[in-house]
Amino acid sequence: MHHWNGEQHEGRGAPFTLTNPATAATTGTYRLATADDVDEAVAAAKAAYPAFKALTPGERADLLLGLADELEARSEEIAALESQQTGKTIRLATEFDVPGSIDNARFFAGAARQLTGLSAGTYWEQSTSMIRREPLGVIGSIAPWNYPLQMAAWKILPAVAAGNTIVLKTSEMTPGTSLILAEAATAAGFPPGVINVIAGDGQDAGEALVTHPDVVMTSFTGSTPVGRRIMELAARKGARVHLELGGKAPLVVFADADIEAAARGAVAGSLINSGQDCTAATRAIVAAEHFDAFTDRVAELMAGVRLGDPSDPATDMGSLISLTHRDRVAAMVERAREAGATIRTGGQIPTRDHLGGDLPGDPESTAYYAPTLITGIDTDAEVWREEIFGPVLVAVPFDTDDEAIALANDTRYGLAASAWTRSTNRALRAAADIEAGCVWINEHIPIVSDMPHGGYKASGFGKDMSQYSFDEYTQIKHVFIDQHEDPHHAWQDTIFTT
Ligand code: NAD
Repeated sequence: MHHWNGEQHEGRGAPFTLTNPATAATTGTYRLATADDVDEAVAAAKAAYPAFKALTPGERADLLLGLADELEARSEEIAALESQQTGKTIRLATEFDVPGSIDNARFFAGAARQLTGLSAGTYWEQSTSMIRREPLGVIGSIAPWNYPLQMAAWKILPAVAAGNTIVLKTSEMTPGTSLILAEAATAAGFPPGVINVIAGDGQDAGEALVTHPDVVMTSFTGSTPVGRRIMELAARKGARVHLELGGKAPLVVFADADIEAAARGAVAGSLINSGQDCTAATRAIVAAEHFDAFTDRVAELMAGVRLGDPSDPATDMGSLISLTHRDRVAAMVERAREAGATIRTGGQIPTRDHLGGDLPGDPESTAYYAPTLITGIDTDAEVWREEIFGPVLVAVPFDTDDEAIALANDTRYGLAASAWTRSTNRALRAAADIEAGCVWINEHIPIVSDMPHGGYKASGFGKDMSQYSFDEYTQIKHVFIDQHEDPHHAWQDTIFTT
């Protein structure tokens, strides 16, 4: 269940049982990776680095194109496994996760050949200066369970496109598709040791990877508290970090918005991946005059979302990742209810025939939670401030545009946001004034390989995807070539008087 140095390996750690959270069925058992396994994987990455770094960008691009083809050939198998290990719908895995990751590989094949820097030239008398953009070495990456394949792709592809080698630790709950990615890389001709994937828990394998002396950078996607722990550990050895952390995205519906479009955007944007999406719409901030119409329509659309067997293409929303996580989401909604919030729809573990759906197992032992809309809260409420990471949208009204922007920014997070308006000026103001790494106008969610993804504020720093990700995975070297014909160099007169 681990892949390093071009081969499958058994872990040395405790046995871990994989469970399909949508059916409660056991789907396999494997042994977690330990610190010794991390050592072996890092040693393989270190050994592979000098030769891989020496490849031309064109050669690396060919490998990435081959990897994209290998993934495409295994698309169905990958989508089915992703759905089985996470509880997400086969439709989402097939239409979003898998093609997005394949497109990432093709994007980075092209991007590998487009590294940029200042032009070579004469910046000092009688000399030529030039820039080399070079890889860093062995990257350690740590990924969450919500989009296992896409997160692995976002971490691995820019790193290797730039000439680094990498050890990725997946979440212990969802190792399957990241391992297929590593196998596909080997099948595509990536040299052994360039792309290594291990599955293990955070405190053992994760911390062993971050603190490993041969790992020059940690690229992490996950929660803000764990990101801060990783920053602390990396600081002890003075190593770089790139942190993609939590979010609490606002969705601002201005007075002139298309309310139907905004309501549809809010429902799709809050329920994607059962709400377990760092950019999911979580806080709807709605012009007071439209508040009732908007929330009525959102509640109606949410109530029509079909929960059911994730492997059925007709199912709209699958389960959450685990019973533990479902219970955490349910407890947060319960605390809001007890504090006086109005639960407009949902707010419960669905019953077997909830929404007319056909849940694949006993609702108590499977990890479903009903799409939920909450109103009537204060902005100091837990559900307004904390990441819920479930299918829960909270809505509040506003009176003025200034108030709307202030509410949007009333969060320590800053990953993504959307603004809904027909006014160019309002759109441009929202784009400028909302503190987030992405602001969508009249949409919420689309991500593309060509554009950067990353946070402001407590949502982290550094970018995934796009050319900007190379700022994380490369270092810049200035090469200075003196062209004087004689030994007298003017600046040396600061030392020599003769
Ligand atoms: P998490 O922080 O609990 O775990 C993420 C990864 O870190 C897992 O692989 C885990 O094993 C590992 N980990 C945990 N403790 C560790 C430690 N002490 N040292 C090293 N590694 C450790 O997050 P999660 O519950 O898996 O995922 C949900 C979180 O991820 C949410 O907060 C979500 O917003 C965030 N997320 C962010 C983005 C983004 O792009 N910004 C994308 C997806 C998810």
